[in-house]
Amino acid sequence: VFWFRARCGFAEFAFTDARCDLRDAGENATTRRRLSEAFGVSQVAVMRQVHGADVATADPAVAPEADALIVDRPGVAALVRVADCVPIVLAATDRPVAAVIHAGRKGMMARIASATALELRAHGAGPLHAWIGPHACPRCYEVPEEMAEEVERVVPGTRSVTSRGTPSVDLGAGVTAQLRELDVEVTDLGGCTIEDERFHSHRRQGPAAGRFGAVAALREQAS
Ligand SMILES: [Zn+2]
Repeated sequence: VFWFRARCGFAEFAFTDARCDLRDAGENATTRRRLSEAFGVSQVAVMRQVHGADVATADPAVAPEADALIVDRPGVAALVRVADCVPIVLAATDRPVAAVIHAGRKGMMARIASATALELRAHGAGPLHAWIGPHACPRCYEVPEEMAEEVERVVPGTRSVTSRGTPSVDLGAGVTAQLRELDVEVTDLGGCTIEDERFHSHRRQGPAAGRFGAVAALREQAS
């Protein structure tokens, strides 16, 4: 079920793919259990994503309304679910603290990635590394002209064009700029959800689209 898996400092994280549908991970304990077993943690914490800029701490007992979840203790993994929006894993290279982030167009405009990086620094993190997962790419993510302009005003550098020459938004460029502004090292893993059927895509599949995602957890020892 894991498309990409890696370690950084105390953090271990993975991006899933369409072999696993995480859409019901909030309500369905079986979905969470399958994921926690595959990832090797005792529990997975979820959030109710609302395209905002609130950062919460991962707690398997609650599903807070938030768009970023911080993990600060071993055993519990934090999960972000997407189907075109940008999934981001953020990890401190020197401290046991990490986060998963849900950054779509609205969340990017609300600076959710920046808010999460600042929150990790408040947890004592020094150097931070971010991994950007598969999302709707600017060649595919067509939006109305006025929307492209509005997003560009709020997040400069995001105005782009689709492969058909129509206006689009470059979500990856936007969140990368926001993170680099805070001295976060960024690795873009690539992959377009609209073009690549290995991932779930709301644009390509409509309301029936499933969700893939990213999980992050802390291990007892740094790698
Ligand atoms: Zn694309």
